[in-house]
Amino acid sequence: MTERPLGATVLGYPRIGPNRELKRAVEGHWAGRVDADELEATSARLRRETWLELRDAGLGSVPGNTFSYYDQVLDAALTVGAVPERFAGLGGTPLDLLFAMARGREGVPALELTKFFDTNYHYLVPEIGPDTAFRLADRKPVAEFTEALAAGVRTRPVLLGPVTLLLLAKPAAGAPDGFAPLDRLDALLEVYARLLAELRRAGADWVQLDEPAFAADRSAEELAALGRAYRGLAGTPERPAILVAGYYGAWGSALATLADTPVEAIGLDLVAGVDDLTAAAGLRGLRDKTVLAGVVDGRNVWRTDLDAALAKAATLLGSVGRVEIGSSCPLLHVPYDVDVETGLTGSVRDRLAFARQKLGEIVTLDRALREGRDVVAGAFADAARRRNPDRSGERSDRVRGRLDALGTEHYRRGSAESRAAAQRTRLGLHPLPTTTIGSFPQTAGIRADRAAHRAGRLAGDEYEQRMRAEIERVIGLQESLGLDVLVHGEPERNDMVQYFAEQLDGFAATEHGWVQSYGSRCVRPPVLYADVSRPEPITVRWSGYAQSLTGRPVKAMLTGPVTILAWSFVRDDQPLGQTARQVALALRDEVRDLEAAGLRIIQVDEPALRELLPPRAADRKAYLDWAVDAFRLATGGAADSTQVHTHLCYSEFGEVVDAIDALGADVTTVEAARSKMEVVAALGAGIGRDIGPGVYDVHSPEVPSVEEIAELLRTARREVPLERLWANPDCGLKTRGEAEVVAALRNLVSAARAVREQPV
Ligand code: GLN
Ligand code: ZN
Repeated sequence: MTERPLGATVLGYPRIGPNRELKRAVEGHWAGRVDADELEATSARLRRETWLELRDAGLGSVPGNTFSYYDQVLDAALTVGAVPERFAGLGGTPLDLLFAMARGREGVPALELTKFFDTNYHYLVPEIGPDTAFRLADRKPVAEFTEALAAGVRTRPVLLGPVTLLLLAKPAAGAPDGFAPLDRLDALLEVYARLLAELRRAGADWVQLDEPAFAADRSAEELAALGRAYRGLAGTPERPAILVAGYYGAWGSALATLADTPVEAIGLDLVAGVDDLTAAAGLRGLRDKTVLAGVVDGRNVWRTDLDAALAKAATLLGSVGRVEIGSSCPLLHVPYDVDVETGLTGSVRDRLAFARQKLGEIVTLDRALREGRDVVAGAFADAARRRNPDRSGERSDRVRGRLDALGTEHYRRGSAESRAAAQRTRLGLHPLPTTTIGSFPQTAGIRADRAAHRAGRLAGDEYEQRMRAEIERVIGLQESLGLDVLVHGEPERNDMVQYFAEQLDGFAATEHGWVQSYGSRCVRPPVLYADVSRPEPITVRWSGYAQSLTGRPVKAMLTGPVTILAWSFVRDDQPLGQTARQVALALRDEVRDLEAAGLRIIQVDEPALRELLPPRAADRKAYLDWAVDAFRLATGGAADSTQVHTHLCYSEFGEVVDAIDALGADVTTVEAARSKMEVVAALGAGIGRDIGPGVYDVHSPEVPSVEEIAELLRTARREVPLERLWANPDCGLKTRGEAEVVAALRNLVSAARAVREQPV
């Protein structure tokens, strides 16, 4: 079947445009400034530039269908016709339907947005039921193949694999109990088979089907589904050769299942899933298959150790049919190009490889594998030199010494009872106190002031005055609303991680290093490259100022060590736990300074705690151990009378309740409104201290009524005594409008009062 060898390749490529052209075009379209034709023209140009760039870089195989207006999982759902009922009658063009499913319409909620495995990318959750009428509804993969061919590039269309598509989906509304989307595999396979046949007719000789769901633990039934899917698809009479790519970890036992199917190639993530290497060498089923050795890290930004990568790939020679060099996963999670970064200093910059540089690494490795290392010895030597600059200036002996000297007492506070008693006396709060999660609406004015200050157009004093004025306004507002525990509102923060990274030593900021988070939203993760330390206090002057304005307690806001790591590119030359402890030590000093400035409550946000949870159960304990230790180190120096809060959101917490308990926070606020307080039972039972389940969804502009909030609080009270409950929104309010926030918080305060005064 294979007409030509696969060739060296990447599993996917950034698609937002080197200058975020797609973001601008898409947002312009939503705002009515860019019409559909202009949007399509921009998109077509970006696609073409990508194909040509990848081809000209020297890849043997160029991935196709990697473009997306919003999300590749949504695209896959549209391709197979998985459009939920509620969007059926909306009318409009296919593009209108796509954006309606992504963003919702008046009265028609969007698909749910959630984290893509353990990455910081978010996908739209397909809804699939017993009656979902699968059909080849959208031919985007074929159209993009033909378009690329016309541009002179025979691409390898990339499709989300059928099993992962079903595993990522949730049952459609009205599906009977016990139904799982995977029950629909056979019907879905028919559509995939048709698509493969059409791609073949259009001239495709290879396709790539992505099955990252198998980097997690899977049941026997799910593994069987994988085998059935690929035996079935491989039986398609006229089809391209099939590469099945697994990534974000090892295939584990799924590798043997897949090796037993007649697919032509299997991709291994040999960065996150290096365990597959030994397994692969022993599998008979791979002897006539191509193995794509994913040795270049698609998720982090460091230059590859070429010798180590080559050695990994070479291990497979002789035991599998053919070895090709690849990226460990799609390059979606890294920025485009280091060369446009002019602000980074030599020792950091030399060590970085973004998407464009990774192409070069793959091509070099490919030549070394085919023609021998000698042919590219110069490139290897140059890469090795740049990977290993003099880093003595990046080491902090003071930080390392302090960490070495820590004892168990640094991770421990007084007993929960003694802390609760001390805090009760000091804070004097009544049961069911009201509070918010930290940020208040970031008005255009605030953003403009921050940008002007950053660009040097607004002097430090004037900037300081404006931020203080905003803090004063927000404190006054909260007092007038009758909230019990106030916040300063975070007007000075662009982003909860970037803000800290900018003020800590050991982090570098890029100028253009944007990566897609979801849809048109991009983030620019800081680069944690050296030992971390805190040259001076970070938040104290803002929180201290806020506290000076009011007699009520102000809650200071810090971002926790796990979240800082999760949303940065992190050095990979030492265990993550060690890096986390360095960050924690800096936060510990900040906690001490906040206490000295009179703050009696300190919140350490860890919204990413669940996100970094390893996909395999066997790896979880080690992760949770260091994650919990880091949080405890950051907060363990707080006096018993200082109330430590933590905040978690964006995910389901059932699996990590024990770890949340182990954080030891006095108060834990969590997102809970959308799940109608479901988490309260688990958290209430698992955590003996206070909890604040969110009582309204901050992602919606709707103002919750007093009765709705009161009802949720009553639901929570059935699980947790009033004395241990708080009333707060699901998350920070920075993206909301002022009027909505005022109305919602007024209702929240009234609802809390009503529930507080109502006998059970
Ligand atoms: N304190 C942060 C805020 O209110 C928390 C944000 C988050 O949980 N993502 O914005
Ligand atoms: Zn949150």
